[in-house]
Amino acid sequence: MQFNVAQLLKEPIGATRLYELNESLTGLDAELKFLGPLVGQVQFLRTNSGILVAGQLSTVIQTGCNRCAEPIAVPVRFALEENFHPLTEVFSGRYLRRDEYEGDEADLDDVALSIDEQHILNLAEVVRQAIWLALPMYPGCSWEGAGECPNLVRHLQELDRMENVEFYSEALRREQKVEKDPRWSALLRLRDDEQNA
Ligand SMILES: [Zn+2]
Repeated sequence: MQFNVAQLLKEPIGATRLYELNESLTGLDAELKFLGPLVGQVQFLRTNSGILVAGQLSTVIQTGCNRCAEPIAVPVRFALEENFHPLTEVFSGRYLRRDEYEGDEADLDDVALSIDEQHILNLAEVVRQAIWLALPMYPGCSWEGAGECPNLVRHLQELDRMENVEFYSEALRREQKVEKDPRWSALLRLRDDEQNA
């Protein structure tokens, strides 16, 4: 996601470049699991203060369903529009002073938006931040019907069948409620039958 923009910086205001992206995102963020590359189009526009990057990008991330915790693939789409500013003057290589910058001063303090001394514009950090902002707050699996998510129901049934029968039956026995709950006593009878068989 690194672009050498030396040539574009030498061109007049209004000059553009168009890039088609298909970039691996492996290693971009330790907390994000990417299932696909970053794809989309970005346009670089030479402005009076630097380069305006604008585009529509998308990728796919693996996360957990907010209800049933099953792993799901979540498509993430986002728009980029960021002003990058050069640290140095492209013809002379001299560092630019703050007061020479013609853009929004707040952009100057964002290191993610600087074009380095080798005239490399790196999109990685703004892409990383944009992905986090574009992630759904409550990712869910594709279940859209009424009632409980079928994954959740299946998951709970599995838990019931496995360790939880043992766990809850012990707890219930301690509280001597076994006979009061026909559901559990039925399960316990089943288990006792198995043990005695
Ligand atoms: Zn689910």
